[in-house]
Parts: sequence; C-alpha cells; structure tokens
Amino acid sequence: MSDDDALGVDDLGAGALDALEAEVADVERALARLDAGTYGTCEVCGERLSDTVLQDRPAARFCPAHLPMALG
Ligand SMILES: [Zn+2]
Repeated sequence: MSDDDALGVDDLGAGALDALEAEVADVERALARLDAGTYGTCEVCGERLSDTVLQDRPAARFCPAHLPMALG
C-alpha cells in the first residue's frame, strides 16, 4: 500500500462502478423501449408489468416469473 491518504477510484472498487454502469445501461434500454412503445412489458413473454413492479424498478424488463432469468 502507498502512503496516499486521498480517496481514489481504486478505493471505490471496480465492482461498484460496474454495478452503476449496469444500472445506467438498464435505464438507457428502458428509454429506447419507451420510444419503441414496448416499455413496461416483459421481454420474454410480453406480459404487461404491474404498476408495483414498475414503481419499484422503473427500468424493469422482465415480469416476476422471468426476472430470475435476467439475474442469472
Ligand atoms: Zn415474462
């Protein structure tokens, strides 16, 4: 370790940055789907997502049944 006491990007960790970038990518995809008129539907089965799901995750792309596929 160096004697550098300033907080740098290294201290944040690459994992945190990756998670943030993934979230930004999700939002960008949601905006694209808004344009395409498919926002708020599951990408697998086309089912409309419930308001509860969209309130919780506005950029959600899968219904609860298919969400595990997206996470895996
Ligand atoms: Zn689905």
